[in-house]
Amino acid sequence: MPNSELNNIPFNDFISNFKKTLKRAFYETDKIEQFVQKRGFPSLVLRDIMATNPLSVAIPKEYGGRGIKVKECLGILDAASYESLPLSLALGINNALFLAPVAKYANPAVKGDIFKRFLTKQNMGGLMITEPDYGSDALNMQTFSVKNGSNYHIKGTKHWQGLTGMADYWLMTSRQKNTNGVLGRDIDFFICDNQQVDQRIIVEEYYNNIGLYPIPYGKNKIDIKVPEQYKLEPETTGLKLMMDLLHRSRLQFPGMGIGFIRRLLDESIKHCSTRIVGGKPLIALDKVQQRISKIQSAFTISSALCARSAKFSGIENNLALAGIEANSMKAYVTDLMQESAQSLTQLNGANGYKIENVGSRGIVDSRPFQIFEGSNDMLYSQISEMIIKLMTKHKSMNLSVFLSSFNLTEKSLDYFKSLVNFTIDSNLAQRKIVDLGKIISKIVCANSVVELGDMGFRSDLISDSLETIKHEVSMLVNSFKSQTNISPIQDYKDKSSWLAFS
Ligand SMILES: Cc1cc2nc3c(=O)[nH]c(=O)nc-3n(C[C@H](O)[C@H](O)[C@H](O)COP(=O)(O)OP(=O)(O)OC[C@H]3O[C@@H](n4cnc5c(N)ncnc54)[C@H](O)[C@@H]3O)c2cc1C
Repeated sequence: MPNSELNNIPFNDFISNFKKTLKRAFYETDKIEQFVQKRGFPSLVLRDIMATNPLSVAIPKEYGGRGIKVKECLGILDAASYESLPLSLALGINNALFLAPVAKYANPAVKGDIFKRFLTKQNMGGLMITEPDYGSDALNMQTFSVKNGSNYHIKGTKHWQGLTGMADYWLMTSRQKNTNGVLGRDIDFFICDNQQVDQRIIVEEYYNNIGLYPIPYGKNKIDIKVPEQYKLEPETTGLKLMMDLLHRSRLQFPGMGIGFIRRLLDESIKHCSTRIVGGKPLIALDKVQQRISKIQSAFTISSALCARSAKFSGIENNLALAGIEANSMKAYVTDLMQESAQSLTQLNGANGYKIENVGSRGIVDSRPFQIFEGSNDMLYSQISEMIIKLMTKHKSMNLSVFLSSFNLTEKSLDYFKSLVNFTIDSNLAQRKIVDLGKIISKIVCANSVVELGDMGFRSDLISDSLETIKHEVSMLVNSFKSQTNISPIQDYKDKSSWLAFS
């Protein structure tokens, strides 16, 4: 399709063409059940899909794209993740971790060529942050840059980058080294073009990732020279740019979650209404109904989060301070993805244990979503810490009282009021901080569910989902209130073999 026409196609037509192509590529050109067991996307499948220009949704209009409307970006991720979570993640990496930051922060002189290669040559891009010794602690990364004339010389080692060895472009993060060899605190972002000899990234090793087979991961050696105009230009500091970028990306996770969870829901309803056990369909059993209802609630929650994200996470807004909402959405939706995949696998019985089964493949494919872009335990801790800081500032330490007038929870708090009517001690153990973060993230996300209901979404789905969240919050409050301080006994081998006592 000529690029000049991309802008003029109504989104409904654009997405229905994309969905049709996915069906053809996954079920006619190739058989997805077979290729999920091999590494990499089959080239014909990828070529077919990329020919529909799905990444055009994340390219500005003035450069021939569809204009970075969050609704369209999430719509593409949703359609892709219904068929293939790895495909959705590959598109999500390109959109949120490369194209959006380039559109927002790159020097205008370099944008045209980059976007043209995405639109006409199906180029791809990813983001390099993590290093072997610095993952969660990314701010202490050791990859550094030194300015030589009009180039930056960047050296270091990065690993676990999605699209390793496959992307044409990378956003490279590093710290500036001063003349005394000391690394600065700020983080810089550089666009590197793998097709330039001086900017080629050497893949030292490919990893055997247990899931997400189509996406290559590995260890990358960085020793590149990047012209100065390819450095992203932050509005203030590189750290703020990084928070804006990461929060926007976390707010895209519901797009990858929604299609994936809807597929699990459809599969579980289909299987449980046709599988007969003891003369009755499985769905007649109460526990089975509870499992499916929880998946359905996850579907409603991720729908609500997509609608909410579409409202405010565009590049026109700076999201550096949107940590509570971004972390809440990312951590909760990825937990829901994993739980839903676990449930479908259980409901499928022994056949759920086949490698090509949607549920078990979903377990391994969705598991790292709870780890990358901020490990969930860390994100839940951060949510609590941010809220406790605000509560302290407002001298309002009763959780229910505080959340009733907090803008991200004021609409949903009524459902949870009595459950969270307790005082927060500002000196909590981290295990409690994580539980508290889980409680808050659910109430924050429930706020979006209430908003979706107000917009006219099916009321039975909305009320069932709020009831499910309430049950989860109640269990977490119980855990929060009754935790012990037990810690691992590392030197536990003495007097601990059962054989000696029988
Ligand atoms: C499939 C996959 C895709 C990825 N894609 C990319 C990518 O595209 N680009 C990129 O740069 N990186 C990527 N990563 C790397 C990912 O972001 C890191 O693995 C992640 O940040 C964790 O870092 P780490 O592995 O060094 O774990 P560590 O930092 O060693 O942490 C290990 C665990 O310790 C616990 N932990 C650590 N800190 C805290 C804390 N403060 N509070 C509570 N618990 C804590 C958590 O349970 C955490 O999972 C990817 C990883 C995977 C598995």
